[in-house]
This record gives sequence, structure tokens and C-alpha cells, in this order.
Amino acid sequence: METYDAVIIGAGNAGLTAGAALAQGGAKVVVLERHTIPGGCATSFCRGRFEFEVALHQLSGIGTPEKPGPLRMVLDQLGVMEHLTFMPMSDLYHVMIPGKLDILLEPDRARTTATLKHHFPDEAEGIDAFFDLVYRVFGEVIGAFYFKDPDVHRDKYPLYFQYGLKPLQAVLDDHFRDPLLKTALTPYWTYMGLPPSQLSFIDMAAMLFAYIEFLPFHLQGGSQALSTALADRIVQCGGRIRYNCPVARILVENGRVTGVATAEGETIRARQVVSNASKIATYVDMLAPDQVPAAVWGELKRTSISPSAFTLYLGLDQPPEALGISSSTNFILGHTDADMAYARMKDRDIDHRDGMMMTCYTLIDPTFSPPGTSQVALITLKFGDAWLQVPPAQYAAEKYRVADAMLQQAEQVFPGLRTHIEEMEIATPITHMRYLGTPRGAIYGFEKHIKDSPVFLPNQMHIEGLFLAGGWVGGNGFQPTLESGFKTGQAVLRRLEMHQ
Ligand SMILES: Cc1cc2nc3c(=O)[nH]c(=O)nc-3n(C[C@H](O)[C@H](O)[C@H](O)COP(=O)(O)OP(=O)(O)OC[C@H]3O[C@@H](n4cnc5c(N)ncnc54)[C@H](O)[C@@H]3O)c2cc1C
Repeated sequence: METYDAVIIGAGNAGLTAGAALAQGGAKVVVLERHTIPGGCATSFCRGRFEFEVALHQLSGIGTPEKPGPLRMVLDQLGVMEHLTFMPMSDLYHVMIPGKLDILLEPDRARTTATLKHHFPDEAEGIDAFFDLVYRVFGEVIGAFYFKDPDVHRDKYPLYFQYGLKPLQAVLDDHFRDPLLKTALTPYWTYMGLPPSQLSFIDMAAMLFAYIEFLPFHLQGGSQALSTALADRIVQCGGRIRYNCPVARILVENGRVTGVATAEGETIRARQVVSNASKIATYVDMLAPDQVPAAVWGELKRTSISPSAFTLYLGLDQPPEALGISSSTNFILGHTDADMAYARMKDRDIDHRDGMMMTCYTLIDPTFSPPGTSQVALITLKFGDAWLQVPPAQYAAEKYRVADAMLQQAEQVFPGLRTHIEEMEIATPITHMRYLGTPRGAIYGFEKHIKDSPVFLPNQMHIEGLFLAGGWVGGNGFQPTLESGFKTGQAVLRRLEMHQ
């Protein structure tokens, strides 16, 4: 029987950074992954002469060597930064409602506010006040939480206390009149899966601050290059990764973790277990009900699951400029009603009421697709439930029907796009269920309602020796999950009384 200091379930972003931190710190560690490659969402796949990026559209937290972001510091400490080539993106985003709104913003506070004032001159004062608030609120969040101030109180952090429970929509309404301006400022709500009426203002402030101050990035080779570099680092430091190795049970004796059992019935002993699988899979599928503390059932009951996504991965036979694509990150919206767009995520169909995002990777890195071609992803958020109702025999036809509707919407902005398709792959919520193993194919973990803020729902250890890391126990997205795994790896090292 194999025995380790720590077993990690899952080689997603968080499993990999936890594994690298542990291996580098001298722990005897094994990562068990059900898929055949490392990365979870952070992977790629090949069709014809294209290697398609699965998930990464804009990476936050990297920053420049002169002004490093928090994620750059983590990847530096894990010894992988030097093996990767990160490229800053020149656009923050291009937001469009055909015939009504067409604005390109840059990742620069002065230029972004100037562009917005140019389009909405009557709202100039509100634009300055809004960005001032974003920066000041986030400054307080950094002081209070990033630097772990032990003395957080209202007098010291007044804006945090004033805005901590305020929805984004209320702050937009306080500052602006024109719904088009509110829409132009907030397409990033789709990166968190909740519309401005339900999303915390602080979450949006954090995202705007992160992308404007530390710039959005991509990297050569896509997110798979990062996952592979982290996996290599684990092995280089003496750790192990086993693929095709789903974990079926977490073993608990006398209230403390003793290891895991794989789906093939093998027992692997460990003093500490880190689960990068979903919180639901960890507690409901891998533990017996009587092993799960009542507090966990309470937590699970009060949460709701985030949307999944419907994505078209397109390999196009022309370069971006020949297709009229001039910005890498494009939000193509049908209207200004984000609540309606959110309600539409429960519907399988795609029509003019659905917004979508189009990323052109070749514009960021010309080597992302073969010479003379483009790699593009069209993505819209959709909940998994409606897709679970499709009978298996009708699944393929339904997938192509919805893909056709999505192309029709994209062609309003990029006419003739479909005539240039050389390769196309479609991912539905069912695809995400299959490859990620998440409930209903959720891509953002639990919905991050204001009431579910980490302040109210901290990532606690409920069973001695069992740690959770990744998008189900904190912020979602690449930066938060990579950082979550790193911090968890350090916490496990402390438990093992090893160097960090
Ligand atoms: C289509 C799409 C687009 C996205 N776009 C962006 C973006 O532009 N920017 C951004 O920041 N974020 C984006 N995200 C979100 C981001 O990719 C995720 O938040 C992040 O990658 C999640 O990392 P994770 O470590 O929490 O888990 P995951 O990536 O879900 O990894 C979990 C791993 O655990 C494995 N696993 C599960 N159960 C078991 C088991 N029983 N045994 C063994 N292994 C198991 C899975 O196979 C998987 O490899 C996107 C996600 C998707 C799907």
C-alpha cells in the first residue's frame, strides 16, 4: 500500500499549485487526476491543424516584472514563471450592441475614462466618481484582506463597510443615468455568472481593478502550457501525478482523514488530503453521509450552482484582419437588460436576447493558429439543467441546432463568419460535466451571491486533515484558483511542520 504525506484529488489549477507547493516544500505528494492530462478547465485539445484553448480568455493577476501582480509572484515562487511566455493584451474589451453601442476600452484607467467620457459626455462627472470609488474600495479590500489586517473595523475601512453588501446595480444607479453606459462598464459580470442586480459591487471593483492595473494576459501555448509547467514542476521536485485515476472515496477513521480509495479499489494512505474536486463531489460522493458534519450540509443547502457554458471553438481559414476582427476580447450583446440575459441562461436556445463573448486568440499571439488562419471562441453562459433534459439520441442534432443559432448572432457583427470555418468543435454543459466532473457542468463553482461572500462562508476545515482548494471554495477564475491551491499547499506544509 502506498503512503504519502499528502494526496491531492484533481489536477486542475488549484490541485496543481497545491501539488507544486507541497513537492517543493519537501512533502511526499501524489496528485490523482481522473482525466488523461493536467489542467481541468486549463487545457487544450486538437482538431485538424488547430490546438484549441478550452477556457482561458483573459488572465488576471500577472502584471509586469516592474509592477508584478499577485499571480506572477505565486508562479515565481513555484519556479514556473521562467518557463512561460506571458503576453499582455492591448484591449480591455470591445463591447457592442449592434446599431446602439460600440466601444473599445483599453487596460489603462486614464484612457478608459477618457473613452467613456467621449461616448457619454453628459456623464463625465459620474464616470470619474465611479472609477475613484472602484480604486478606493479595492484599496481597502487589499489592506483588510490581502494583507490580513487583524484589526478590521468600520473607522479604518469605511468604504468596505459601506459597500460590502451593496449590489453592483445600486452603485451603477447612484452614478449613471444612461443604461448603455451601465452596460458598457459591466460586461465582466459574465466572468462571475451573476448580473449586476445580484453581484456584489466589491467583486466587480476587484475585477476592474485587477484587469486595468495588472492588465489582461494570455500565454504562449495557452493555459495547457501553464498546467504542463506546473505538472512538470511537481515531478521535478519528487512528487507524482497519476492520470486516469479517479478517486472514489475519501477514507476517514475516528473523525480524521487517513487517505483515499481510487475507483479501481486501490487504497492510498496519507495524513492530509486536498480535494480540488467540487465541494459537492467531495462531501456527497466521496464521503459517507454520517461522516459529513452537519455544518457542511447547512452550507451546501444555502448555495446555488453557477451556470455552465455553450462554446463554439472555431478554426477559421483567414487571418483576423481579413475577417474584420480587430480586437481580441469582444462582448456581443443584444440589449442592456442583464437580468433578462441571466434569466435566458436557463434556456437551451440562443437568440438575440443572449449575449456572447468572442475571443480571437490569434490577435494576441499570431502563433496561436497556423499562418493565415484564426482561432476564435464564441461563448455564452448556460445552466446545465435544460441540456440534461435532451434525450441522448437527440443530443448531437440539438448541439448543432444551437450552434447554428449562435453563429447567426455572431454574424450580425462578423458577416460571413461561417463560410470561413475550417474546424469547429462544440462544448455544451454536458461536455463540461463529462470532462470536469462538475455538477451540471458548472464552470464557476457555486454562485457568488453577496450572502455567500467568503466573509460569511469561509473555507473551513470540517474534517481533520481534509482541505478543499479551487473554485468551489472561494473565488473562481484562473487567478483565484491558482492562488487558492498555492495557499492550501502552504497550509498543508504547516500542518506537516515542513518549510514553505
Ligand atoms: C469554458 C470556460 C471559460 C472560462 N474562461 C475563463 C477566463 O477567461 N478567465 C478566468 O480567469 N477563468 C475562466 N474560466 C474559469 C476557470 O477556468 C476555472 O475557474 C478554473 O480553471 C477552475 O480551476 P479549479 O482548480 O477550481 O478546478 P477544475 O479546473 O475544475 O479542475 C478540477 C480537476 O479535478 C479533477 N477531478 C474531479 N473529480 C475528481 C476525482 N474524483 N478524482 C480525480 N480527479 C478529479 C477534474 O478532472 C479536474 O481536472 C473558464 C472556465 C471555462 C470552463
